[in-house]
Amino acid sequence: MAANTHTIVQALRDRFEADAILGARELPIPVPTAADRPTRAQSSAAPAEPPLPPRTPVSDEERESRRVALEVMDAREVMGCTRCGLHATRTKTVFGVGNPAARIMFIGEAPGHDEDVSGEPFVGRAGQLLTAMIEKGMGLKREDVYIANVIKCRPPNNRTPATDEIAACKDYLWRQIEMIRPEVIIALGAPAAQTLLGTREGIGRLRSRWHSFYPSGTSTIGEPIPVMPTFHPAYLLRDPTEKSKAWSDLKLVMARLNIPIPAR
Ligand code: SF4
Repeated sequence: MAANTHTIVQALRDRFEADAILGARELPIPVPTAADRPTRAQSSAAPAEPPLPPRTPVSDEERESRRVALEVMDAREVMGCTRCGLHATRTKTVFGVGNPAARIMFIGEAPGHDEDVSGEPFVGRAGQLLTAMIEKGMGLKREDVYIANVIKCRPPNNRTPATDEIAACKDYLWRQIEMIRPEVIIALGAPAAQTLLGTREGIGRLRSRWHSFYPSGTSTIGEPIPVMPTFHPAYLLRDPTEKSKAWSDLKLVMARLNIPIPAR
């Protein structure tokens, strides 16, 4: 099969799968137009990264130690934090949830209304879609992964966090990542990807490619963690036709971690 034909067939397959898994059956399946067809540059995609070597299982004692350390950081530092102006308008801080020894860490932008009220990340409509991506798509349980945001307090009217708010808050996220030590980070949306990777590139260019997060910050010292940027679930709710791209990004992560695609 010619490379372009193969790419189009794969894109259609991703779209059918994503519609079935993530729910967009009411939408028509658009046939790719000339504009959708890959250019020569796009069709010569970078070779897939090999699967990561198996990691030594985390002991129950180590998992418990990480859980306690995260709880202490939340209770002693984040819940009462006044480092930036968002403390004045929040209802609750939203620290993060999930497995403290998770293989995958999902990182979004900031809490929304439902999260501000509940204190848990990704519980509104976007959160329900993220849960479907994790459970129906990847065949994992929500509690298997760890979910957090770049900033821990809701920006008023869900506006994009300001640069100074991210700068004030991201140390908490960096320390969460250090404690959890995930094998892969999935960055949900441009603000999360740009913060983790120190870039201003848009999500359309960042997604579907592997990047590296260095726990030491902007330097390249230390063992990097692979990062896969993809679309934020809130964006996918606004434009469900993009779900197939998010699904293909998740499949890259599953291949890297040797997670089989669940039988349908
Ligand atoms: S957003 Fe972060 S830095 Fe700002 S008050 Fe909340 S926890 Fe503190």
